[in-house]
Amino acid sequence: MDHRLAARMKGIEPSFIRQILSVTKRAEVISFAGGLPHPDTFPVEEVRQATARVLSDRGRRALQYTTTAGVDELRAWIAARYATRFDMIVDPDAILIVNGSQQALDLVAKILLDPGDHVLVEAPSYLGALQSLSLYQPTVRTVALGPGGVEPGPLAAALADHDPKLFYSVPNFQNPTGISYDAATRAATTRALSDSETILIEDDPYGELRFRGIGLDPISSGIRDRSFLMGSFSKVVAPGLRMGWVVAPPSMIEPLHVVKQAADLHSNHLAQEILVELLGSFDLDAHLDATRARYAAGLTAMEDALDALLPEGSERTRPEGGMFLWLTLPIGLTAREVLDEAIARDVVFVPGDAFFLDGRGERSMRLNFTNGDPALISQGVHRLAEAIEAVAARRGRPVGS
Ligand code: PMP
Repeated sequence: MDHRLAARMKGIEPSFIRQILSVTKRAEVISFAGGLPHPDTFPVEEVRQATARVLSDRGRRALQYTTTAGVDELRAWIAARYATRFDMIVDPDAILIVNGSQQALDLVAKILLDPGDHVLVEAPSYLGALQSLSLYQPTVRTVALGPGGVEPGPLAAALADHDPKLFYSVPNFQNPTGISYDAATRAATTRALSDSETILIEDDPYGELRFRGIGLDPISSGIRDRSFLMGSFSKVVAPGLRMGWVVAPPSMIEPLHVVKQAADLHSNHLAQEILVELLGSFDLDAHLDATRARYAAGLTAMEDALDALLPEGSERTRPEGGMFLWLTLPIGLTAREVLDEAIARDVVFVPGDAFFLDGRGERSMRLNFTNGDPALISQGVHRLAEAIEAVAARRGRPVGS
């Protein structure tokens, strides 16, 4: 039957991450592979109470169909949050509530891309975005990430040479590297995009998870008429709610409503009402402070162990928040080889080449630091260091040489 699949399905493979996650089901495995928030951060009791209040106060309304755009109070809350955080005025009618920001990627790609259109992504890039975009059959170009974000020279050159329809960017604590764009890179990105016709897709699920350094305004705040800004409650409240949003330029909100309606009419109404109730009744900032403190401790444990145990010649990013750190092994070692040894020692990660389109990143790996406690994270890094040693020993040379 495979020959009856649409052309867009050609070359689509099962996600490598999903294959790795099947290993992590064993209880003894320490996983740096997933992108899971820590379950202890989920406000279970508060969600229970909010749900009970929604059902008793307005149960019939909450269980009814609602508008495609999403519940007014929720969109107003999101707009107010942009005003408080960035002095950024967002029209609630420019916001579409989606089924996790992952859906926004699909819907925005659907309204923008024809087969063969050029799109520009960071290298490495978020796997879920590569998958979403690829279903619309574009020609994908990449631009390298440096320690301060996308490299401005190559970005300007790529925009000029290929006139991509869109540039997909994660400027805060990028998945998979943990890198954030610094102020100069944000300004250069705004300039480069302003000189082009390329539309910015700014994906910001991690922005609220900053626990070091100073937060910066979204890049899209400087090019509002040509950018989509995506956000999510997954890392702020809980991913199981599947609640996210996209802020669209005025001319793009109607096309977005059309494709959202075709996809699923609207996002889960009850979950939207529960969020409205929850956000109106609990102290989100205190909740975020606790989450950030927990994740900061996880990152510190990971960094301390990596710096103490990793062979000379290893390099790592220095995330200021988010959920991921990117580790690059010394020349001569590959992450896939280390993964085999790591699985044998009950620790897993995602090899870096999964986040590139062309096999690069083979010495790198993505490490998640939010789903375990500091002691477990240290233990995991010890196992990882042993796995690296084992591969190096097999090669018959000391690591780092
Ligand atoms: N964008 C990025 C960069 C992500 O890492 C993720 C989730 N891991 C998403 C979007 C999707 O998140 P959600 O659909 O849960 O909002």
